[in-house]
Amino acid sequence: MAKIIDGKAIAAKIRAEISAEAARLKERGIVPGLAVVLVGEDPASKVYVSMKEKACADVGIFSDEYKLAAETSEEELLTLIDKLNNDPKIHGILVQLPLPKQINTERVLEAISPEKDADGFHPYNVGRLVIGKPLFQPCTPYGVMVMLKETGVDLTGKEVVVVGRSNIVGKPVAFMCLQQNATVTLCHSKTRDLAAKVGQADVVIAAVGVPEMIKGAWIKEGAVVIDVGVNRVGEKKLVGDVEYAAASERASAITPVPGGVGPMTITMLLQNTLESAKRGM
Ligand code: NDP
Repeated sequence: MAKIIDGKAIAAKIRAEISAEAARLKERGIVPGLAVVLVGEDPASKVYVSMKEKACADVGIFSDEYKLAAETSEEELLTLIDKLNNDPKIHGILVQLPLPKQINTERVLEAISPEKDADGFHPYNVGRLVIGKPLFQPCTPYGVMVMLKETGVDLTGKEVVVVGRSNIVGKPVAFMCLQQNATVTLCHSKTRDLAAKVGQADVVIAAVGVPEMIKGAWIKEGAVVIDVGVNRVGEKKLVGDVEYAAASERASAITPVPGGVGPMTITMLLQNTLESAKRGM
């Protein structure tokens, strides 16, 4: 049976380190600050924003929340971002997605100063990641890399198969693994014979959004499986993109859903804010 990679425990460890570091900074008069901007009433977004605020408070990061009406114009939002870009108390800015239709998401993300881009979505930061000189790394892939490190997985020379090529998970995590000297195959919906590709992987990273589409039988004996997927089935149940029970029989280590990658994402947002505050010293 595979070792379970406990995202909650790893997240708690990293958060304790962040908290200790924030306390050290405070002694020098620096309090890391994160601005969280929410436009509209999306219920899931509201939950994420309140989780982020609570996480900040728990580790001693100052958080400033801006709740804007659903009919806020792009110009109003850009004016707020400009203000936050110039606010010395703020080291990270996060605009909760999705944004209402009247607002051009790309334009908004590009208006955030690359030096305060806590989500790491600005094209400047994407470019820095690709050339192996990251400033801000996107939170979920950053969390995946920390989990691999904490599990003792050395990626050098390993075959990594990433399934999913989104800008927020699949593509960045592929480049991060490449930077760690893995040989990376990036798969997507047009990939032929996905089972064979997955079957070659020493490490499988699934970020698809389709419940249990990666079958346990595809997993190579002894592979490490990181399941980023979070899929709701029925009223309450959450499952990943990997057929967990069957994959656990073959993998050497695997992340559960929930309790795997999920708790790492907000943790890395805190880490990004802390790192930014330190860079600004
Ligand atoms: P997207 O919908 O943006 O991307 C999904 C990717 O999966 C696309 O590249 C798509 O390919 C590919 N894909 C879809 N169907 C198949 C298939 N049958 N075979 C192979 N590839 C396929 O999703 P995200 O990257 O935003 O999220 C992926 C999952 O991760 C979701 O379940 C999401 O909820 C979860 N997630 C979890 C987070 C966390 O904190 N734990 C954070 C972010 C996401 P193509 O490009 O060809 O369409």
